[in-house]
Amino acid sequence: MDFTLTEQEKMLQSLARDFAQKEVASRAAEIDRTNEVPLDLAQKMAELGLRGLPYPAEYGGGGAGYLSFILALEQVCQASVTVGAIMSVNTVPQEGIYRFGTEEQKKRLLTPLASGKLLGGIGFTEPDTGSDPRLIKTVARRSGDGYKISGQKIFMSLAPVLDVVLLFARDGDSEGINAFILESKSKGYSVQEVLETMGLRGMGASIVNFDDIYVPQENLIGKPGQGFEILLDAISVERMSVAMQGAGAAQAALDLAVDYAKQRVAQGKPIAKMQAIQQQLAEMASRIEAARWLVYRTAFIRDQGQSIQYESSMAKLFATQVAVDVTRMAMQIHGAFGVMKSLPIERFYRDAKMTEIYVGINEVHRSIVANRLLK
Ligand SMILES: Cc1cc2nc3c(=O)[nH]c(=O)nc-3n(C[C@H](O)[C@H](O)[C@H](O)COP(=O)(O)OP(=O)(O)OC[C@H]3O[C@@H](n4cnc5c(N)ncnc54)[C@H](O)[C@@H]3O)c2cc1C
Repeated sequence: MDFTLTEQEKMLQSLARDFAQKEVASRAAEIDRTNEVPLDLAQKMAELGLRGLPYPAEYGGGGAGYLSFILALEQVCQASVTVGAIMSVNTVPQEGIYRFGTEEQKKRLLTPLASGKLLGGIGFTEPDTGSDPRLIKTVARRSGDGYKISGQKIFMSLAPVLDVVLLFARDGDSEGINAFILESKSKGYSVQEVLETMGLRGMGASIVNFDDIYVPQENLIGKPGQGFEILLDAISVERMSVAMQGAGAAQAALDLAVDYAKQRVAQGKPIAKMQAIQQQLAEMASRIEAARWLVYRTAFIRDQGQSIQYESSMAKLFATQVAVDVTRMAMQIHGAFGVMKSLPIERFYRDAKMTEIYVGINEVHRSIVANRLLK
């Protein structure tokens, strides 16, 4: 076991920290208030090479691997979980194409995503389900040399601004699930409503209608019926990322709590001198450290080319619970100022709660972990 970062990893971490502190942090409150996707920051991430870090240079990526991606993501999330979430969601179609696409698809579809020319998302969740593939109603019917897709997705992140989506639809013939790369400029793609969510605002989570959209055969990823397998594999990278979103939010909240405790005075001394506050800070720091290393290890395993379906569920389950606990404790340390909209702590608290819910609700992750244990 080697816990030291390479020079390249340290450089990337510092590049992402610079971007986060200089360009993201000052925008986080505004993104949260307006609920508008910060497309300019997504563009800036592309210019910095942060949008395709894990994928090989021959497909437009940074060739840096998953741990590097996670290290960069950690820095961004400490400034704005939303901006980190944009970075995360955009990896899902890349992962799907990289793992299941043909060589031709990797060149044609992965390269513009990994190089940052195009922005991508994922469309699985529907009004009836976000967890159960048997309830998916969006259908892909054979038509000429391809498919015609009809249906509705909900909570589809980046929907108003993305270029392509890794879309999951039921096969009209076999009833299995297929995975497609669908372009948002296709006739029949329409965003019905951008949703107002409690946290992770500015992700563009939307209701989207797909009205008889033609998708050519060459945009089917994997084989017909392989969609659910593709979803589980590709989304494991997003689950790992959500775990880091949680750890990032928790770290930001701890930093704020430490600063606040040093300057807030009660009973004639800074509250940081009180044992009760010190006990809380120590608890918070220890839990964050455990969460962080669980995510790093998951990324390390992916860098070995192995499946992380089990590890990413465990990391997401643990780190997002840490996020909720730690942001709540940090808020408590801030007293009444903790609930003020003018301070960032309440935003991290709301964002932390979101991480327990999206990209697979935590009950599902418990089931995944338990199923492996009992197999
Ligand atoms: C901000 C945001 C962004 C999102 N972005 C996207 C996106 O880009 N693309 C996309 O496809 N989706 C997206 N989602 C959807 C999200 O991933 C789902 O909402 C989430 O997976 C939960 O699904 P659900 O809401 O249908 O909950 P359900 O599956 O209906 O769960 C409801 C309840 O049932 C329980 N439950 C369900 N299944 C199980 C089980 N197997 N074991 C135990 N308990 C269970 C859960 O505990 C939960 O309490 C996003 C959601 C949000 C909030």
